Amino acid sequence: MTFDEIGLHDELLEGLSCMGFEKATPIQEKTIPETLKGRDVIGCAQTGTGKTGAFILPILHKIRTKEYTNTSTLIIVPTRELALQIDQQVQGLGYFTGATSITLYGGGKAGDFNEQKRAMANGVDIIIATPGKLISHLIMKNIHVSTIENLIFDEADRMLDMGFYDDICRVVSFLPEKRQNLMFSATMPKKIRDLAKRFLKDPIEVNIAISKPSEGVEQTAYMAFEPQKTPLITGVIDNKPEYKSILIFTSTKRKVNGIVRSLKGKGYAVQGISSDLEQAEREEVLLDFTTKKTRVLVATDVISRGIDIKDINLVINYDVPGNPADYVHRIGRTARADTKGAAITLINEEDMYKFRNIERLIEKSVEKLPLPEELGEAPEWKDKSPQKKKKRYYGKKKFYNKKKKGGSQAK
Ligand code: AMP
Repeated sequence: MTFDEIGLHDELLEGLSCMGFEKATPIQEKTIPETLKGRDVIGCAQTGTGKTGAFILPILHKIRTKEYTNTSTLIIVPTRELALQIDQQVQGLGYFTGATSITLYGGGKAGDFNEQKRAMANGVDIIIATPGKLISHLIMKNIHVSTIENLIFDEADRMLDMGFYDDICRVVSFLPEKRQNLMFSATMPKKIRDLAKRFLKDPIEVNIAISKPSEGVEQTAYMAFEPQKTPLITGVIDNKPEYKSILIFTSTKRKVNGIVRSLKGKGYAVQGISSDLEQAEREEVLLDFTTKKTRVLVATDVISRGIDIKDINLVINYDVPGNPADYVHRIGRTARADTKGAAITLINEEDMYKFRNIERLIEKSVEKLPLPEELGEAPEWKDKSPQKKKKRYYGKKKFYNKKKKGGSQAK
């Protein structure tokens, strides 16, 4: 489902397009429409499934279409790192909406508290906070609680594991009764259901279970610049004559055609499959692959889910899928039913952050192999993204934006 079909505000569609998000992930597709209807939601989803977007997008839509007069949204999270990650997504996805946000967490610099107090006095749309620091601001009456209409608990199970139950209850005691509540948690033990029962009203429950890649898949990756990718996969295929079925995934139809052309030029039995083909043509291509007439099949994600082709020895991700769950689906094409298989991912500099998201989802660091010497220097793998300087908005930008956009706001 596209975000356009979900009915999000144009300014959010612009932000999504800049971030390269084309389609909603399953958790987004299931929860955003319910949130937009005003329902309370419990989402059971791990990091990496797009859960942050699942609550940020409808909240930004509400902020853009309703005339909130002050802080409308409170997001409670277990850690500073998560608060910062969410804030980055608010800034990225909400860039064109002019929505403002602030993070509150413990352990900052002296003077932070007063700076946060001033920012909130000027008006801020979204507060993202860990429970302890939030309570200090609530006690000091630094937050306009009476206008809060949206309450979000993210990683609720982790908050309870960290002993925040009483703090959460205390925070909620400051808030207005009439509000919409969203709760996200990677697991749904009884204590989370009890918490939900206490604070959510008739919630709709959405479960997105992502199974981990099978143990039988040997996962490795190469850092590579774009021009190094085709010579690299040619070398890999040449070195493994025993691999009779190789599936290469890439993100666009254009790339499918390019890779097929290059590999055909080198004499491989290769075909491509994408949504460009009619159903009958697709079936024919798949039949050639399953009967081993074609050794290498190059595909977009049209076949990454569902189709059960047996005995695929190797899956190559020519580029890193944007949606981490797609990685799991792609490499799940090999090592089916307890057999062994291999998955190799080629990562260029721009895709590093996407691969880090995948490693977070599968809770495992994938070995990065050195490029063969003859291909030259590879980009360097970095475990962390460089820290961006945080922009601070104190309400003025929003006012300016709203004035500037005038009647264009959806009502
Ligand atoms: P999260 O589960 O919120 O930690 O999301 C993991 C990553 O998935 C985020 O950092 C985004 O880069 C990415 N992501 C979120 N929504 C989408 C989407 N609709 N399409 C592609 N990638 C997405």
